[in-house]
Amino acid sequence: MRGGHPWVFSNSVREQNRAGEAGEFAVIFDRRDKFLAIGLFDPESPIRVRILHVGKPCAIDADWWRARAEAATSRRNGLFDNLTTGYRLINGESDGWPGLVLDRYDETFVLKIYTAAWLPRVKQIADILAAKSRLVLRLSRNIQEQAARVGFQEGQILRGTPLDGTVTFLENGLRFEAEVFRGQKTGFFLDQRENRRKAGALANGRRVLNIFSYTGGFSLYAAVGGADSVLSLDISEHALSGARRNFALNQDHPAVVRCQHETIQADAFKWLAAKPIQKFDMIILDPPSLAKRESERSVAIGAYGKLIEGALLRLAPEGIFIAASCSAHVSADDFFALTRKLTPELEEMETTRHPADHPATFPEAEYLKCIYLRRRR
Ligand code: SAH
Repeated sequence: MRGGHPWVFSNSVREQNRAGEAGEFAVIFDRRDKFLAIGLFDPESPIRVRILHVGKPCAIDADWWRARAEAATSRRNGLFDNLTTGYRLINGESDGWPGLVLDRYDETFVLKIYTAAWLPRVKQIADILAAKSRLVLRLSRNIQEQAARVGFQEGQILRGTPLDGTVTFLENGLRFEAEVFRGQKTGFFLDQRENRRKAGALANGRRVLNIFSYTGGFSLYAAVGGADSVLSLDISEHALSGARRNFALNQDHPAVVRCQHETIQADAFKWLAAKPIQKFDMIILDPPSLAKRESERSVAIGAYGKLIEGALLRLAPEGIFIAASCSAHVSADDFFALTRKLTPELEEMETTRHPADHPATFPEAEYLKCIYLRRRR
């Protein structure tokens, strides 16, 4: 804790003066009974306390919460101009708000809660975080039942006017829809913004394959970057229709009009295992998390291996291969090592990690990594 780790696991609590309820403040004392920290208590989670404050005793009141929100906001000062109106304002523990995320999509904010410990404080926090704007509440699956018992529903509007459907926002000047009520995460994969931009800058004149495309984020950047054609592949027809809408929203870019965009609904594992019939000059591989828990790690590594091998069979000479992983249980080192081992004939261009609006201040928070490679002539 003194070193900044934000979690206390249930098995490291030696003594507790009473049972405690989800969301109560837990005051933590060390072996010599000296004050150590304050955190949010959750009697049902193996992460028993999520630390809010370490050091000297302090009062956690409205001013304290406001200062903490302000600190997260000012950390993002200067990161985005008005061509980017979708970004993360609070990234959980790494911003001092354990188990809580706040994303902005233009004038709509989305608050996502990953622990029941926030439920008693939702109203107070909503006032502090987005008093004047529209605020949508999202709940991680494991706390939805508990939330319903205290009157909170997944996708509920906490503040502001009703909204039907999606929100349109800007990312580097491109228009995208975010499905704030039901989409994955808070409705869009904001964490891949920098990788999308880099991919777009490399796409000129290329035939691009975007595997696990979701709503075509990488695809649209590639089109704007001058790709001749883009094939967006996803298992979800719903995601692919979002990709087509995102292309439709950006028809004012001549390059988007010129680019031939196609979608294909398929299981990427099966599609890649089939006989290759087409080559691509750029392949983007951005699967969902393949290891939800530590025990799935080696299965995930095997699955990444299959995906990478399948992609390589379709990469043309001088083609660019961009492989990302968002599995926290597969480390960046392991993912990069695996990719390098399977691509000895490719030349490494660069690797990337978390973008600035998604800071990771402790090892468990690190999940995103991406490697860029190029096939030699
Ligand atoms: N690159 C995207 C985010 C990818 S999210 C972006 O920048 O926005 C992962 C996507 O993988 C989801 O859209 C999900 O529908 C899709 N998916 C999950 N399993 C799949 C499978 N077996 N085959 C193809 N797509 C799959």
